[in-house]
Amino acid sequence: MADAKIYTERVLENLQKRNPHEPEYIQAVREVLLSLNWVIEEHPEYQDHALLERMVEPDRMIGFKVVWQDDAGRVQVNRGYRIQFNQAIGPYKGGLRFHPSVNPSVLKFLGFEQTFKNALTGLPMGGGKGGSDFDPKGKSDAEIMRFCQSFMLELYRHIGSETDVPAGDIGVGAREVGYLFGMYKKIRNEHVGVLTGKGLSYGGSLARTEATGYGALYIIRQILEDRGDSLEGKTIALSGSGNVAIYACEKAHDLGAKILTMSDSSGYVYDSQGIDLDLIKEIKLEKRDRIHTYLEKRPEAQFFAGQKPWQVKVDIAIPAATQNEEDLEDAKQLVENATPYYFEASNMSTTEAAVNYLLDHKVLVGPSKAINAGGVAVSGLEMSQNASHVAWSFKEVDKKLEEIMAGIYKNISEAAQDYAGSKDALIVGANIAGFKRVAQAMLEQGYVF
Ligand code: NDP
Repeated sequence: MADAKIYTERVLENLQKRNPHEPEYIQAVREVLLSLNWVIEEHPEYQDHALLERMVEPDRMIGFKVVWQDDAGRVQVNRGYRIQFNQAIGPYKGGLRFHPSVNPSVLKFLGFEQTFKNALTGLPMGGGKGGSDFDPKGKSDAEIMRFCQSFMLELYRHIGSETDVPAGDIGVGAREVGYLFGMYKKIRNEHVGVLTGKGLSYGGSLARTEATGYGALYIIRQILEDRGDSLEGKTIALSGSGNVAIYACEKAHDLGAKILTMSDSSGYVYDSQGIDLDLIKEIKLEKRDRIHTYLEKRPEAQFFAGQKPWQVKVDIAIPAATQNEEDLEDAKQLVENATPYYFEASNMSTTEAAVNYLLDHKVLVGPSKAINAGGVAVSGLEMSQNASHVAWSFKEVDKKLEEIMAGIYKNISEAAQDYAGSKDALIVGANIAGFKRVAQAMLEQGYVF
């Protein structure tokens, strides 16, 4: 074990030296590498092949400027990126994020994570991520369209249905994917599955919109059932009110649990009767409004400006907004509230100190790589449908999603048991199960990446 530890620590140290200003990227790599000592010990050849050094470095990083005109006629300049992280097991695959916080560190962390998440689904997809520091909030439809068109005017050179297939993420939903896809077709004159999350009328898959949230609840149900527990009657604190949170809420209610909170970046609402999801959909999907307006129709609910929902006493906490939304103080609050379950639906929801605190206090932690893998899994199914020119029913896709989530849970809990000696070590299990598949594919394909 000592050799393995020296190797992983050396790789981490070098990475830190070479990327001193990229904290999110270092955090994501650290979490994976620190889980791998058992596997590295078992496979000393990884070190000879410099596997970790190759794996932590993106294959390709593309940066470009995006020039567009706002409604007032002013010319605006944003930054656009696509990080093609790893294509050992399939074409690069991962979402596009439009948010002012987007920078190379955030996208490298997301692309790195995506590589292992995609491996966990068992589908042939490599890892990638992209986006822009463009802020869609408060922009008109026309501005969104012009921005997306300008973004695609550069991105189209780098993507393709067999090369790199982006999808949505924070700030990029069906509307944005539609504008991006329209522009891609205008430039390339080909109707292919170059993006997923498309509208149903032009090649999208049924159940893709719901997939991340539904998939999260499918795997959570299984984790609970494997421990003789169930979702029935459980109370849940959920953060976010975007795509992932909305469909997580929908499935949680279907499965008999009660969501008590939802949030956006302005604060959270608490509804002791259970969140009224139709109202959230009206506010967020139709009006694109702020979450405090929930109280206009549900005056008995409460709004907590500038706060996060982790202070509410519940059975399960599910962050579904953004990275590092749960810090040490929040983790202490969860432990004080005796919350037994914590499942990450947003990517890298938790700071390192907070994860360690939760684990030290025996909270069961489900990592984002597994919990939110349903979105990309159904994106993979959308690619299959596009390639074979078919459209499966909602029921078919939903059933495949459930099967994929069950397969992920089986793989990660077995890896957790085999390597860490406990099926509760789900973070280690997810990192190892994803890593092993990517490592094998890289070794078999030679020193190309
Ligand atoms: P959306 O843009 O649909 O929603 C994001 C939600 O999170 C909004 O409620 C938003 O509030 C809130 N939020 C975003 N940034 C912050 C912040 N810095 N602080 C507080 N709240 C914030 O995104 P998604 O629902 O698609 O994504 C949510 C998470 O799930 C992300 O981590 C994403 O990477 C991950 N994910 C998404 C998948 C998908 O299929 N969409 C697949 C797998 C993972 P506000 O509107 O005020 O900004």
